[in-house]
Amino acid sequence: MKAKRSLGQNFLRDADAAHRIVDALDLTERDAVLEIGPGTGALTEHLIDAAGRVFAVEFDGDLIEGLKKRFFAANNFHVVHADVLELDIARIGRGKYKLIGNLPYNIATPILRRLAARREDIAAMVLMFQREVVDRIIAAPATKPRGYLSVLAQNAFEAERLFDVPPKAFSPAPKVWSSVVRLVPKPRTVDEAAFLRLVSIAFAHKRKTLLNNLKTGVLNAAETLAAAKIDGSRRAETLTLAEWHSLFAAIKEAGKPN
Ligand code: SAM
Repeated sequence: MKAKRSLGQNFLRDADAAHRIVDALDLTERDAVLEIGPGTGALTEHLIDAAGRVFAVEFDGDLIEGLKKRFFAANNFHVVHADVLELDIARIGRGKYKLIGNLPYNIATPILRRLAARREDIAAMVLMFQREVVDRIIAAPATKPRGYLSVLAQNAFEAERLFDVPPKAFSPAPKVWSSVVRLVPKPRTVDEAAFLRLVSIAFAHKRKTLLNNLKTGVLNAAETLAAAKIDGSRRAETLTLAEWHSLFAAIKEAGKPN
């Protein structure tokens, strides 16, 4: 079958890489695991051996029959034909589950936003993206890849890059390297929808200063920055997570009625 580029279909064909990715999730028979985008089952095969229950969500209807046939003998495997961005992932399994996926880069931001919003149900995740996406997920303040995705991810998860996977491990081979990242949920400390709106406004124009970006969406931006002890001439990518939280707290404080 022809791989669909629009769905980011680069199927893993390196058995060693598949093992390493699955091993990173530390599965036991007590675990339920959700796989996003099983494709032809390169990771699924090992998940079925290692976990108690495996749920796989695949968007491409042409792959569903193949998965069912390949794993028909596995009574701990369930495949769901759905777009993971539309699915209510909280309804998979009873307790917390682990999550794994080799994912197309174009769903990195929406899927991480969704997973962050549902992280109370997730014990740990191991995800593979193209390397540039993982660079952005783990980027430290004041480094080039730091952006909205870094703050979104690091606010919600402890993020650790595990290893890189070369193009030749896939079929068809992508143009770029991939990286595997482990994400472990952190407790929720702020109203995240509002927090992420702030982060998004602040990063709207990367070349503008923080003050100039904030002026477009935050009342009394200069006073609020001063209250948070953050210099408005800085750029959004220089802020630490603690500074983002201070800024958000200052905005909430300023919005309170006297
Ligand atoms: N896990 C397989 C592997 O490692 O060989 C396939 C990985 S391939 C990079 C990405 C998979 O995600 C494809 O099977 C694709 O059809 C699926 N996919 C893409 N977008 C999706 C979505 N929104 N929801 C569910 N699956 C999706």
